[in-house]
Parts: sequence; structure tokens; C-alpha cells
Amino acid sequence: MFDKILIANRGEIALRILRAAKELGIATVAVHSTADADAMHVRLADESVCIGPPAARDSYLNIPALIAACEITGADAIHPGYGFLSENARFAEVLEHHRIAFIGPKAEHIRIMGDKIEAKRTAKRLGIPCVPGSEGGISDEDEAKRVAKEIGYPVIIKAAAGGGGRGMKVARNEADLVHALQTAKTEAKAAFGDDAVYIEKYLEKPRHIEIQVLGDGKGGAIHLGERDCSLQRRHQKVWEEGPSPALNVEMRERIGGVVAKAMQELKYAGAGTIEFLYEDGEFYFIEMNTRIQVEHPVTEMITGIDLVNEQIRVAAGHPLSVTQEDIRIEGHAIECRVNAEHPSTFRPSPGTISYFHPPGGLGVRVDSAAYQGYRIPPHYDSLVGKLIVHGRTRNECLMRLRRALDEFVVDGVDTTLPLFRTLVRNPDIQNGQYDIHWLENFLKTGGLPGSEEA
Ligand code: ADP
Repeated sequence: MFDKILIANRGEIALRILRAAKELGIATVAVHSTADADAMHVRLADESVCIGPPAARDSYLNIPALIAACEITGADAIHPGYGFLSENARFAEVLEHHRIAFIGPKAEHIRIMGDKIEAKRTAKRLGIPCVPGSEGGISDEDEAKRVAKEIGYPVIIKAAAGGGGRGMKVARNEADLVHALQTAKTEAKAAFGDDAVYIEKYLEKPRHIEIQVLGDGKGGAIHLGERDCSLQRRHQKVWEEGPSPALNVEMRERIGGVVAKAMQELKYAGAGTIEFLYEDGEFYFIEMNTRIQVEHPVTEMITGIDLVNEQIRVAAGHPLSVTQEDIRIEGHAIECRVNAEHPSTFRPSPGTISYFHPPGGLGVRVDSAAYQGYRIPPHYDSLVGKLIVHGRTRNECLMRLRRALDEFVVDGVDTTLPLFRTLVRNPDIQNGQYDIHWLENFLKTGGLPGSEEA
């Protein structure tokens, strides 16, 4: 096993990794920018190294500084968390070169899945059902028109290098298409430095359902059921739950089986997520994330498996601690991403948290690096914390979430807590009847919380 893990991240996920490492008896090194000198992950780690100024490209994305930090501290592995360098294949290769273990999949798999065109091709080859669309990239207008006509409108144009919901444009007819193609390419170039795009059928009312997998890198792989992440704003997840209110045991087994088999064939290592759109009983692959995800605690709460622990084990050459037969889905879990944003305008609200009281009690988990007096720096994402609640049934989970949200106090900055308090009381949410457009429609039609409601 590793002696010392350097955590190349910040915020709640840095704490999450630190906890897993400590439970395995492994020493931890925190790295931080000058803006994060007071951060909780720095305080809780055994050692810490300042790796640069606030801008992420000079600190958390600074590969030479991270390698130097490993050399100074004697860390023999790096966990990248999510975001930052977590899906950077070159980073994984550079670490290999320096004989530092990368706690994640093989560079080759990160690279394939990082290019969405290549990812779709691979998924298809492995027998995973995909959204109908172009075979590869779209080179010009004529090709776009031909493909769109073939699959039928509406279509969506997506960036091959896409991520974070950027570079996606919907076209409802041929007149829309030319403009959508141009804007998608321009946006993709600006955001990712790569203007390669592809086309797929735009599904009108799907749910976003994703399957969590774990692979041992040697041909063993299992699935841990699904998470339903249909509640989104600007293609970004807001609320995640598992199991999905839309699936039954047979459907779960069917898609889980297909995915696990594909990962066995790939000899995938560590944690990964295969994302699908789900409509009218059919699954359509959209992408694979080759890292731990923000919403991974939903799966941990319903399976009891520590996913970060498994990632570390596999990276150290150990087998997974569980087999497919050991995986039991127990009860229901929901996660709310509480952001420091205005609950209706979603404007970021950096500042100092003057009072922080997280909820507690049976089945309540708060993954957060915030504390009273913590100053949220403006340089990074606006996640204050994740509230994850577990219940024996979905109904119990909803009741528990409701009281946990009412208990949660964050003063000094705006947060999205009022939005969640509204959502948990909404009949559609309570009935599990929502698709990927539900939240946007709800917000558009004035479902907004004006202020803290009673
Ligand atoms: P990103 O990597 O930017 O997050 P994804 O491919 O994972 O992009 O898609 C993000 C979200 O965009 C999906 O969860 C869904 O809401 C929407 N989306 C993507 N592809 C389609 C599609 N073919 N039809 C309808 N919505 C889509």
C-alpha cells in the first residue's frame, strides 16, 4: 500500500480523499494556492505545500509544482479528485514517468473517454447503446445537414472536447442548423481550444441516468447501480438521487450488466461513471467520466461501499474489496449541491461565512470544507457543501431531507438552500416525475424561491 498520498485538489473533495487515506493508515499531503492557506484540507492533512498563486492554472493545474511537492514530501501517489487534472491523460503519464502512482484509470482510457467522439465509438464497440448520430466529427455544413436529415430533427451539436455543459447547441430544423453549427464550433474553440463537433439526436424528455463502476485494471469490474441526475440547470447537476425513481430491478440489472461487461473488456481501473440519457425504456450512452464524481456519495450511501478507498486499493495494485454479488442497494439517497449562489439569479456569492451550522442525525451526511469564519475565495467553484441524506425508502429520504434542509444554516453569503427547500416540497419531485428539462422549466415559470420561505 502507499505510504503517503498527495491530494491534488481543494475543497470538500480534498477532505473526502483525506478521510479515505486516513482510514487506510496512509499519510496525507495537502497542496494549496495562496488563496487557500486557511483551507480546511490544509489544516487536516499531515503536511501541506503551497504550490502557487490563486489562479488554478498557476497552482492546482501546475504539474511541475505538484511533482516538486511529491519530491519534497516523499509522497508516492497522487489523488486528483474531480475537475482540475483528474481527466488529464498527460498528467497521468508524467506521473508514471516520475514513478508516482496516479490514483485513477490508465492514461489511455482517460484519453479515449476525454474525446467524446472516440468515447462514443469505443462504447459502441463494447456493446453499449448510444444516442443515434454522426459516426465521427462533422467537417462541414453539408455533412451536418445530411446527418441531421438522416437521424431527424431536433438534433444537438456537441463539442468533442466538451465538459461542464458547454459547447452544446440544439437545432430544430435545417435553418437553425447552420447557425447552431457555427456557434457550437466557436464556443468549443474558445472553451477547449478544439472546435471538433459531432451531432446526435436531441432527446426531448429524457432522464439523465448514470452507472457507477469499479474496475481492478485486470479485467475484473463491477457496477454499483445508478444515480438519477436529471435535475439540472444549464446542463449542470443540481440534485442527484439513487436508485432512480424511473427504473426497476430488471432494468438496473440489464444496463448494469452491459456496462460491467464493457469495463471488464476494457480492463478499466478504478472508479468511473457511464452516463446515459434514458427515454421510453431505452438507454443511450452520452459520455464516460474517468474519475470520482461530485455525486459519488449517493452510491456510497445506498451500497455502503467507500468508493475512494476502492480507488486507492486498485491504484496500489490490490484487488477490489467487493464482488458483484456483494453489492446490495439498500434504501434511497439524495444529494443536494449547496452552492454559494443567489437561489434565483444564481449569481456567485463569494464572501465570508459568518455562521455555519450543518444538519446531523441518522442518515445525514454533509461533505463540506466550510466552517464559521471561512472566506470563500472567488477563484474556484462555488460549492459550499453537499448534503446527502439516506432513508429506508424514497419517502423516508424525502422527509429526512426536508428536515435536514431546514436545520442547515449558512449565514454571510447567499446559498441555494432555499431552492432545495422549495424542491423537496414540490409534488413532481415527491412523485419522482421529472426529466432533464424539468428544473429549467420550473425556474422559468416562476417556481423560484424569492427569499427564505417558512
Ligand atoms: P458535459 O460533458 O458537458 O456535461 P454531456 O454529454 O454529459 O456533456 O451532457 C450533459 C447534459 O446535456 C446531459 O445530462 C443532458 O441534460 C444534456 N444532453 C446531452 N446530450 C443530449 C441529447 N442528445 N439530447 C438531449 N439532451 C442532451
